[in-house]
Amino acid sequence: MAGTNDAVHWRTELGGGTSVALIQAGSFRSDAGTLLGPVPWILWRSWAEGELDENRRLLQALNCLLIETPAGRVLVETGIGERMDAKNTTMRGYSGTPVVPAMRTAGFDPATVDVVAMSHLHFDHAGGLLLADGTRAFPRARIVAQRAEWEIALGDNARVVASYDQPELRLVADWGAQGWAEGDRELLPGVSVIRTGGHSAGHQAILVRGTGPGARSLAFFGDLCMRPWSANPRWVTAFDDFPLDSVTVKGELFRRAVEDDWLVALSHESRMPVGTLVPDRDRFRFEGL
Ligand SMILES: [Zn+2]
Repeated sequence: MAGTNDAVHWRTELGGGTSVALIQAGSFRSDAGTLLGPVPWILWRSWAEGELDENRRLLQALNCLLIETPAGRVLVETGIGERMDAKNTTMRGYSGTPVVPAMRTAGFDPATVDVVAMSHLHFDHAGGLLLADGTRAFPRARIVAQRAEWEIALGDNARVVASYDQPELRLVADWGAQGWAEGDRELLPGVSVIRTGGHSAGHQAILVRGTGPGARSLAFFGDLCMRPWSANPRWVTAFDDFPLDSVTVKGELFRRAVEDDWLVALSHESRMPVGTLVPDRDRFRFEGL
């Protein structure tokens, strides 16, 4: 498998002319204890130790999906983008190729994207909507996030202010309002968003369904399923604003993923970002492809 910053990390046909390519838009570092939330260190130290940096941070890939369907192109997530200042770039350990140059290297013209769907609006998912010069990175696209997510993202709760880059979001708020989703919605035939909440007030999952003989579906559960360990519904991050909702909705969605044999793409996994969920006692296990 290609390295983190190579253009197309993984690609598959789902049937009926629908395909999904996974593009990694760089990576950043995030505190391991915060990511593992309520899970004691002794349960994860053995596999995490090789990945931790000197500040006990894990490597978080910025996974984006480029979905091609007969009805149009959908980009899922935009990563951190090109506008983070030097101080934050160093502080966050952000490196690699932002989404637009990564797409170009992979042979995708950002101007052909019809819809940009984001699981939520934290800085590491909504940072790539604008180019370095402040112009729209996806000039003809409709942006789809939940209305509730926009409302909380631009609110004044002190915790929220730390998770969202509000000055940047204000620059795209009008653009975003044109594509507000309220609950579940089909974006294009075969591509839907499912409101989940949990990680953030208006967090959503994205589901892609192929058609015809041998058709498959692929689910992107956003930061409800960022790394393989997330397959345990009880393992939620300390970033989750509504952890009880996360546990419930993860259990429900993961059961559907097993029953309907969905492929699952992880939001922040670099080494095996696509796989399936397998029931494992009272939880699930992620098996990379
Ligand atoms: Zn994230």
